[in-house]
Amino acid sequence: MAASAPHTRNRAVFMNGYISALSLWLTGAKTVEIVHDDEGVIKFEAEHHHEVLDPRRMGDVACKLIAWREMIGLLGLVGKRPDRYGGAAYGNVSARIGPPSAVCGQRAMLISGTQTGGMGRVGLSDFCLVEQYDYDRNWVRSRGTTQPSSETMTHGAIYDLSPAIRFVLHAHSPVMWRARQALRLPTTDPRVPYGTPQMAREVQRLYRGSTVQATNLLAMGGHEDGIIAFGETVEQAGQALVTWLGRAYEQTCRIS
Ligand SMILES: [Zn+2]
Repeated sequence: MAASAPHTRNRAVFMNGYISALSLWLTGAKTVEIVHDDEGVIKFEAEHHHEVLDPRRMGDVACKLIAWREMIGLLGLVGKRPDRYGGAAYGNVSARIGPPSAVCGQRAMLISGTQTGGMGRVGLSDFCLVEQYDYDRNWVRSRGTTQPSSETMTHGAIYDLSPAIRFVLHAHSPVMWRARQALRLPTTDPRVPYGTPQMAREVQRLYRGSTVQATNLLAMGGHEDGIIAFGETVEQAGQALVTWLGRAYEQTCRIS
């Protein structure tokens, strides 16, 4: 465990990392952050402790995430473009921190910070340690110098599927998403928005009743272009992403 620096608890509203001054209020030294998605929908409340993450504890795993994030960024799977999603950054990556025996809701993860998808090379300070998450309360407890991704709950839902899952890569890929039916990719119900208690139940349903344990990848039916890959290692998750991206491009190829 990293030594806990004195912390402040923030009560603020931020939209993909941009704190809205109008929506920020202070309660003495304490604040709490309400994390929204890029459309302004509240995803969860974060009890966020501002502190520098310990590189001795998290440096190695952060380097794995940084390396694969950079690679999938070159493929356009994470990033920020003015012509997509209203210019909001997209895609995020995470890794389990801590023992396999941790119980659901407390499978601590190092996750990329909100709106970091558009950054080039990132560092440990662009990640956030999420120690606990609770879908029903829409609440997370986090530490770091950046706030957690608005898609934290979905990452937590994936980790809760199995202690063996140690890495999650969330990408946005129009070509894979459009090919999800042709490729028979396990796909969440389009009526279920990401980052909700229903999404947690939906990924559990897929895990029990689809090929997702073989594909290591699923499409998010209710989240435009959303793809999630996971694995025991970052290579397993990354290779699933690259393999299915190749198969999706193959679907678009016509040679007569
Ligand atoms: Zn997304």
